[in-house]
Order: sequence, then structure tokens, then C-alpha cells
Amino acid sequence: MNRPIGIFGGTFDPVHFGHLRPALEVCKQLNLEQVRLIPSKVPVHRAQPVAPLEQRILWLQQVTEAVPQFVVDLREVERETPSWMVVTLESLKKEFPDHPLVLILGMDAFLQLESWHRWQALLDSAHLLVTHRPGFVRPERGIFSDWLLQRETEQITLLHQRVEKGEGKVLFLSVTQLEISASGIRSQIVAGGTPLFLLPDIIHNSVIDCYST
Ligand code: ATP
Repeated sequence: MNRPIGIFGGTFDPVHFGHLRPALEVCKQLNLEQVRLIPSKVPVHRAQPVAPLEQRILWLQQVTEAVPQFVVDLREVERETPSWMVVTLESLKKEFPDHPLVLILGMDAFLQLESWHRWQALLDSAHLLVTHRPGFVRPERGIFSDWLLQRETEQITLLHQRVEKGEGKVLFLSVTQLEISASGIRSQIVAGGTPLFLLPDIIHNSVIDCYST
């Protein structure tokens, strides 16, 4: 079996170090072949993005240009249907039948999982890798917690096995904790501040231009 492929979806409005550093650390710790960064066109679980789609894509392409492990994947923006992750994973499984798939989520996104379209079917196509994020703790009670207990593993090697129907595992991983959010960056800019040191220099000026106008 080939090395797993990581899948990292988001609005990236804008992309920042809180996305990039954890994704890189997951790639290294899990020995992934690559991480596919997938911008959503019409996010289905949250408010609509502020920056235009073309701009969010351009920023992603600029910041990943020098990182060969990162691939910007435009399948959700080129699709007519909403950006349902379960559909995205099904298409990736068809395209990469010989690679295990690992869906990377921050803890905040994981806590919302039950509201996702056909969320339980995510584990028909991929394992879940959940990174800790400042301010969010794992669920300890309730049906979701029971569901989690049946699927959780601490063994990275299990994520190197291709996912059979309903057999995906869930693994929590500690990464460098960066208390950065896209919404925080947008608010700072609107208030006249700068996102310097929160995101790559190469997009800094363009990000300020986009959100301050
Ligand atoms: P917003 O503040 O607008 O809600 P965001 O910064 O959370 O945006 P998204 O594009 O919504 O960014 O997030 C995409 C993915 O990145 C999600 O899985 C989210 O959990 C993860 N993520 C975002 N910021 C961080 C961070 N600072 N640390 C760890 N994971 C993060």
C-alpha cells in the first residue's frame, strides 16, 4: 500500500499559519505522501467567505508554491454541487484507489462533525486526523463521544491501511498550538491592524487590501 494522502479542507479566508504549520506537522508525523488543501466554494457548515473565491485560491497557491508536499486541489470549486466533504472524499477515493486517505480537521471543526452531510459516511472513505486547537477540547460525553470511543486509535500505522466501508479510524494528534483564526485576522484588519507574523509575508499586503476595503 502507498503512503496516505492527507486532505485538508477549509474556507482559507485567508489562509494563515494556524492552517499551514499543523498541516505540515501532520504530514511529517504521519509520513503522508502529500497534503491536498481543498478550498470550499460554497461552505455548507458555516457563514459564506468574505474574500472572493479566486483570491482565496491565489493566496493558497502563493503560500504553497515552495512546499512540494502541499497540493492545492480545486475539485470542490469546480463542482456544481455544494462543498460536501463526503462527496469530495468519494471522488478522491476513486482517483487514488491505492492510497489510504486521511481527513485532517482542527478540533473546532471535529466538534461540528455531527452537523455535516452524511457525516458517518466520511469513515467509508477516510480516516480522521484531529489536531488540537487552542480553546477547544474533545467531546467527553454523549452519543458523539460513544461513537468516537469505538473508532479512536493511537496507532499511526492503522492510518496507513486503506479504509474499507465504515472502517475509518480517528486519531488525535498534538501539533504546535497557534491561536490564530481567519476571523480574528479579518477583524484586526477592519480595525486598522496588521496580520504581520500571523500569515506568510508573500500574501500580507494583498490580504490587507482585500479586507480593509
Ligand atoms: P474562521 O476564523 O473564519 O472560522 P479558520 O481560521 O477556523 O476560519 P477555516 O478555513 O475555517 O479557518 O479552517 C479550516 C481548517 O483549519 C479547520 O479544520 C480548522 O479546524 C483548521 N484550523 C484553522 N485554524 C487553526 C488553528 N489555529 N489551529 C489548528 N487548526 C486550525
